[in-house]
Amino acid sequence: MKLEQPPGPPATLGEVRWLDARSLLASCKACAHETVLNVEALADSVPLSWFATRFVCRCCNAVGAHILPCWTDEPGPRRRPYSVGMSKPS
Ligand SMILES: [Zn+2]
Repeated sequence: MKLEQPPGPPATLGEVRWLDARSLLASCKACAHETVLNVEALADSVPLSWFATRFVCRCCNAVGAHILPCWTDEPGPRRRPYSVGMSKPS
């Protein structure tokens, strides 16, 4: 069984952008610290699981996060975009 439009949360950056979100919200699986990820430079085909498995928490250094679309990406002192300094997946 193969679904062309699987139900559930978006799986790639393209689907996030389709939802009109321009950044991602990463929530640390260990301490729930939230970080906004600036993903403007990355391709639509990048899967959100790529971020989920590579995210390193600034607070507790744990690896792994829940990745959600983020619609509140305004820069500011409370929530600064975190530029993704990782190489693109192959
Ligand atoms: Zn953490």
